[in-house]
Amino acid sequence: MKEKDSLVFNDFYEYEDEIHEACGVFGVDNMDNIDVSRLVYFGLYSLQHRGQESCGIAVNDNGQITGHKGMGLVAEVFTEKVLDRLEGKAAIGHTRYSTTGGNSLENCQPLIVNYKDGRLALAHNGNLINASKIRLDLENHGAIFQTATDSEVIANLISRNGLKCKDIEEVLKKTMDVIEGSYALVIMTQKRLIGIRDPWGLRPLCIGKLGNSYILASETCALDAVGAEFIRDVLPGEIILIEEGQLRSVMYEHKKPHSFCIFEHIYFARPDSFIDGASIYRARLEAGRLLAIQHPAEADLVVGVPDSGLTAAIGFSRQSGIPYGEALIKNRYVGRTFIQPSQKLREQSVNIKLNALKEEVDGKRIVLIDDSIVRGTTTKKIVQMLKNAGAKEIHMRISSPPVLYPCYFGIDIASRDQLIAANHEIEDIREIIGADSLGFMTVEDILKTPVGAPPNSFCAGCFTGRYPMKVPKEANKFSLDKC
Ligand code: SF4
Repeated sequence: MKEKDSLVFNDFYEYEDEIHEACGVFGVDNMDNIDVSRLVYFGLYSLQHRGQESCGIAVNDNGQITGHKGMGLVAEVFTEKVLDRLEGKAAIGHTRYSTTGGNSLENCQPLIVNYKDGRLALAHNGNLINASKIRLDLENHGAIFQTATDSEVIANLISRNGLKCKDIEEVLKKTMDVIEGSYALVIMTQKRLIGIRDPWGLRPLCIGKLGNSYILASETCALDAVGAEFIRDVLPGEIILIEEGQLRSVMYEHKKPHSFCIFEHIYFARPDSFIDGASIYRARLEAGRLLAIQHPAEADLVVGVPDSGLTAAIGFSRQSGIPYGEALIKNRYVGRTFIQPSQKLREQSVNIKLNALKEEVDGKRIVLIDDSIVRGTTTKKIVQMLKNAGAKEIHMRISSPPVLYPCYFGIDIASRDQLIAANHEIEDIREIIGADSLGFMTVEDILKTPVGAPPNSFCAGCFTGRYPMKVPKEANKFSLDKC
C-alpha cells in the first residue's frame, strides 16, 4: 500500500493509496501430506503487500474444488476453523487489489467455475487490456458472467476452448492467443496445478519446491516464508503443468519482447524477493547509489520515507558518505478499516500514520528519499512535517523517474491529468512540495538497477509512454471458432 500524495481528501483512505498493487498468487501441489490450507495461508501472508482488499484460498480435495474468500487481510479472512475445513491434495490462493472489477465479494479470487471437464479455480495477477471486447463477444455468444473481473474472461475462454481442443495445452495456448495484457496465473483443475506467465513477462511468477511438492508463487519471499526451495522463475510465455509431482513446461510460441514491470523493482515487490535473477533489495540500493551520483546534496542526514524509500536511502547514504538515519516513524497498526475522522481531523491525518522524529531532524539538512511522486500532495505534507520538526533544509530525491503516464497492466496509477510530473516542470514540483532541491532518476539509470536481470527486458511505460503493446484500443482478435 502506497502512502502518498493526496492529503486533501474526499476519502480519508486516499492518501494511502496513490499507487496500488495488483495481486499476489500462490499454489501448491501437495505430494507430502502437507496441511495445504495453512501453507497457502502463510504464502499469502507474505504476499499481503501485493494486495490488501480481499483474499481467498481454493482447495482440491479428491477432485472436489471448494474455497473460502472474503474482504480484508489474510489474517482477518481466515480463522483456524476455516483453515481446518480446507483440506486437499492441492490448493491455490490470492491476495487482491482490484484493478479491474469492483471491490466486492463476488470479485474476490480464486474464482471457482464449473466447466465441461469439471471445476477449476483460477488466481490472476495482472490486467487484460482487451478483456471488455472479449467479454462482449462472449456475451454475444450466450456467455453469462458472475463477476466484473477480467479474470473471469480467462476462465470463460478456458471453458469454451475446452469444448473444442484436444488437450489442456491446446486449451491454454488458444486462450493465450486471444488475451492481451499482463497475467501471472495460477490455475487448479481437478487433476493439475498450472502456472502461466504472459508472453511479455510483465508480472512475476516463480517455481519452488518443498519436499516433493511443487509450489508456484508471485515472489520468492513467499517460498522463503513456507520453507520452500526456489527452483526458477516461470519464463515469459511459459505454461507450467504440475501433475502427480511431475512438472512439465510448455512454451507458448511468441515473439513478444520480455518486458518485466520495472516498478516491481522500484516499489511493489518485497525487498527480500528475487525476480528474473535480480535482487529487489540490491536494485533499490543501486537506485539510491545512482541517485547520489546524479543528484548529490550537501546534507547532514539521509532518511527514507517508510517503507518504500528506506533501501534507496541506504544506497544514497553509502555512496554519498552522509549518515543514514530515521526521521519518520510509521504507525504499523493502522489498517484499512479505521473510523473516519471529522473534516478537521482529516486535515491533520498524515500524523496518524507518520510522525517526524524531532530529536533526529532538528537543525539538520536532510536528504529525503522516496520511491516516486505521483500527485505530490503527500510528499508536500511530509516535507512540511520535517520542516515543522526543525529540519533546516529538505533535499528531496526520488528513486525513480517522473511518473508521466498511466499503467495499463495491473498497477493502478492516477490518470495523467492527476500526475504532478505530467503537468509541471521539475522546478515547479520542487516549489509545490516545498523542498529545497529535488532530483529524480533518469529512465536510463533506473533500467540499470536490477543487476543480474536480462538486459533490455523491462517495461517502463509509465515513465516513457512506450508500452510493450498497443494500448488501450487493441483490435479484438477474438473468435469463438478458433479451436
Ligand atoms: S507501465 Fe509502469 S507500472 Fe505499468 S507495467 Fe509498465 S513499468 Fe510497470
